[in-house]
Amino acid sequence: MSDLISLSIDEARRRLDAREISSLELTEAFLARIEATQGKLNTFISTTPEMARAQAEEADRRIASGDAGPLCGIPVGVKDIILARGTRTTAASAILKSYEAPYDATVVARMRAAGAVLVGKLNCDEFAMGSSNENSAYGLTRNPWDTDRVPGGSSGGSAAAVAARQCIVSLGTDTGGSIRQPAAFCGVTGLKPTYGRVSRYGVIAFASSLDQVGPIGRSVRDAAHLLRTIAGHDRLDSTSVDNPVPDYCSALTGDVRGLRVALPREYFADGLDDDVRRAVQAAAQQLQSLGATLEDVSLPHTEYAIATYYLIATAEASSNLARYDGTRYGVRLGNDSGLLGMYRKTRAGGFGPEVKRRIMLGTHALSAGYYDAYYAKAQKVRTLIRRDFNSVFANYDLILAPTTPTPAFKIGEKTDDPLQMYLTDIFTISANLAGLPGLALPCGSSADGLPIGFQLIGKPFDEETVLRAGDAYQRDTDWHTRLPQ
Ligand code: GLN
Repeated sequence: MSDLISLSIDEARRRLDAREISSLELTEAFLARIEATQGKLNTFISTTPEMARAQAEEADRRIASGDAGPLCGIPVGVKDIILARGTRTTAASAILKSYEAPYDATVVARMRAAGAVLVGKLNCDEFAMGSSNENSAYGLTRNPWDTDRVPGGSSGGSAAAVAARQCIVSLGTDTGGSIRQPAAFCGVTGLKPTYGRVSRYGVIAFASSLDQVGPIGRSVRDAAHLLRTIAGHDRLDSTSVDNPVPDYCSALTGDVRGLRVALPREYFADGLDDDVRRAVQAAAQQLQSLGATLEDVSLPHTEYAIATYYLIATAEASSNLARYDGTRYGVRLGNDSGLLGMYRKTRAGGFGPEVKRRIMLGTHALSAGYYDAYYAKAQKVRTLIRRDFNSVFANYDLILAPTTPTPAFKIGEKTDDPLQMYLTDIFTISANLAGLPGLALPCGSSADGLPIGFQLIGKPFDEETVLRAGDAYQRDTDWHTRLPQ
């Protein structure tokens, strides 16, 4: 069994197509693994074993008829903020605790059409607000490398499940780092695609100008397979862009000669953990030894990224979350308290403390009299941040930086101090503000044996270069092959 749960997509594909294994056997191996480890890790909010078995049988029929693409018969997990018809979809909130998705998100529909096998819905921070998975109404998720530590967030379940081999790949969402930061904390590979690359139809909205869906896997190659399946224009999401979707796997040539890689000074400043600094610098040198060139650059508005993000993201969240008022979705409280009373009781009882904090912050930032000072100002600073990146990308192909300032922190360590929690996303937020693709991948191990990650940020819609460099690095190193027990 440990053999089956450790397969890459390509290895599984070869064995499935050669009929050495069936998708049902592969799926049973993952379901058994989930059964054995869910109690300890709490990675899933719901598991879907019956759906998984039915999909695996269907995949086996497709394989037998010679109609199997890369993902056919492959067990996947989906963050519980993404709708999958017939599954409970909670966004890790009590307010949606009995909400059953009436339709598929486009990303899920595309995975189903490709024959992927859905093993369950993964834990996350409530409405994707958080950096530690401690804001879930369904209990925290533990980091499989050290169960006293957080897996990161908000897609903590998605990263931890891949690291723990409960599924081969998973989907997460990334509004300010929620794919990349947990990927770094769990020693796996995660990509936030360019804003507009992947449809958000059927993805519960947090901050609509920032949210993107993306893949998490144990390798760049596995992530590239999943991206290929989910990317591309969707007429149901007007923010998805009608650019052709390249074959991301054939972009993985292993060749990075001549690639111009920029190292932003502001990302290597004080406050960066020594182990992380060393590991990330070694990763940069590795790319250099493969033929890339390295140069230091400046992204001068980096210091404003967190403040800018927490105005824009909270403002958008306050508006997006207005729809949870007890009339249409999920929980209703105070049915006998009049309309306003019902709204009030539903929202007071249904939302957790971090979500309430954000709604209040965002409502304040948008209110008449404060709008110009906060929200409008933040939009202007966002433009400056985007321009910083434009000017670097005029001369460079990629930006290389740490993913997080430290490895995974302890459970409870930052729960009383929201600002400290917000600061953990300092290196990931700017790519969201600028709409750029960002890939996080493992590059080292701390003195405590915890994974360390680095990040490659690319030009808009240039996921190919980002993935090519990440894959070249992984061909030459073995950090991504190390797994927790
Ligand atoms: N940790 C950040 C936040 O709490 C980012 C979350 C995300 O990307 N969804 O908002």
